[in-house]
Amino acid sequence: MRTLVLADTDVGSISDVTLRVIGAALQLGQPVDLLVFDASSAAAAARVNGIERVLVASAGAANALAPETIAAQLLVLVGEYSMVVATHRASSRAALPRAAALSEAAFIADVIAIRERTQFVRCLYADSVIATVTSATARTYASVRPSSFAPVAAEGGAANIVALAPILPFTATRLVERRAAEQSGQDLGSARVVVAGGRGLASQENMERLGRLAGSLGAALGASRAAVDAGYAPNAAQIGQTGRSVAPDVYVAFGISGAIQHLAGMKESKFIVAVNKDPDAPIFSVADVGLVGDLFAVVGAIEAHVQAAEQRP
Ligand SMILES: Cc1cc2nc3c(=O)[nH]c(=O)nc-3n(C[C@H](O)[C@H](O)[C@H](O)COP(=O)(O)OP(=O)(O)OC[C@H]3O[C@@H](n4cnc5c(N)ncnc54)[C@H](O)[C@@H]3O)c2cc1C
Repeated sequence: MRTLVLADTDVGSISDVTLRVIGAALQLGQPVDLLVFDASSAAAAARVNGIERVLVASAGAANALAPETIAAQLLVLVGEYSMVVATHRASSRAALPRAAALSEAAFIADVIAIRERTQFVRCLYADSVIATVTSATARTYASVRPSSFAPVAAEGGAANIVALAPILPFTATRLVERRAAEQSGQDLGSARVVVAGGRGLASQENMERLGRLAGSLGAALGASRAAVDAGYAPNAAQIGQTGRSVAPDVYVAFGISGAIQHLAGMKESKFIVAVNKDPDAPIFSVADVGLVGDLFAVVGAIEAHVQAAEQRP
């Protein structure tokens, strides 16, 4: 049997997220094919290391990427696959359970490790429960947390490209408009350093100042939900249970208390620095380095350091 990976369909090329999902799929030890709905990304997909075939869905399906359409496409293909894997993002989280139900197979969400071909480790209740789950069905659908798996190389492969026959797209709903979230600087998902601000930032201006500092450090800007809800940062910057999950090399949290829902999206980071004026803030329980103090004093000191470094000949 084979494994089918559903490519991240929000972007025009093969994203880092998809490379990580392929990394997870290869751990299953069987041939891996990649399903793309964007024909323009097929050539890039074919060069990805470890892929045997790139299956390109017809333009008809690409024009109507409703979860029902993706599920219908998966259902047509699924005969030769014992595993169907995708990233744990909104569109695949909607498509995979539909396809699983239609083929009477198990769906396992938010997988962070693969033990063997039918056994998966997944998170529940904002990561407060880590469960080992065994699939009892012949075929399994799984959404995986990309930050838990290493990416495969984007180059070095030579997969065959296979054009799929058109399927009937789902027409009961219609995609009217697709608008990309505004993003400046580094992509949160792939940044090696993330600088995040919470309610302690106290204003949008202060968050913008933190964003400039993040930019000068080559880092991406993240935020807590309280900061997003207060309008200090855009939705796309939210990290946590209902936002993005990140696992950068370095995560620096300014004025974030460390609620369990926030920790769910960042505690896999390799090195965590927290700045908070409250010595009892829960963020310190996951921090490698904790600094108790006023965040604005610390931000000012780093800015001065960066400025001095920039002026050095
Ligand atoms: C179902 C559900 C889902 C949720 N999903 C998410 C999610 O995805 N992401 C998320 O982040 N939250 C999420 N939350 C909200 C979460 O519970 C917290 O309310 C939120 O994370 C708090 O954000 P915060 O730490 O910025 O704010 P607060 O908890 O208000 O903390 C602010 C911190 O800033 C510190 N501070 C203030 N001023 C300064 C200063 N000058 N210098 C230094 N420190 C200072 C304070 O000591 C405090 O610790 C969710 C909640 C629910 C119920």
